[in-house]
Amino acid sequence: TERTLVLVKPDAVARGLTGEILARIERKGLRLVALELRHVSAEVAAEHYAEHVERPFYGSLIEFITSGPVVAAVLAGPRAVAAFRQLAGGTDPVAKAETGSIRGDFGLEVQENLVHGSDSVESAKREIDIWFPALG
Ligand code: ATP
Repeated sequence: TERTLVLVKPDAVARGLTGEILARIERKGLRLVALELRHVSAEVAAEHYAEHVERPFYGSLIEFITSGPVVAAVLAGPRAVAAFRQLAGGTDPVAKAETGSIRGDFGLEVQENLVHGSDSVESAKREIDIWFPALG
């Protein structure tokens, strides 16, 4: 079994989509092993998005992810990383995400794209250490 780190981003929390997103995760068969509403510090935001520091949208992304509470979760299950990426849909909710995915069904903008999911098992380990260090 595999683990992945998921964030329900501030846009989705503010729009009241947390329950809808958690319901899709549960219906898929992924198991919640950690779940918490978090106010994101600038430090945690910078650690989480360290790989994007040189991107033109980095400043805006940090501002967005710290703009309101997120719901952070660790999911477990067979192929959990890919399974959640499938639920989320592609990064751009209109150009890439398919209808039926979280982003495809609820999103319009590439930055405010509702959810984050780790992109590999290695990223998941790194991100779980950042958000839920006690889980080891
Ligand atoms: P995530 O890592 O959050 O699941 P992702 O792997 O689909 O998203 P990345 O390319 O890693 O996408 O980008 C990280 C996040 O940065 C995106 O989810 C989105 O919120 C934001 N982002 C990506 N590209 C852009 C862009 N061109 N303009 C503004 N924000 C962007």
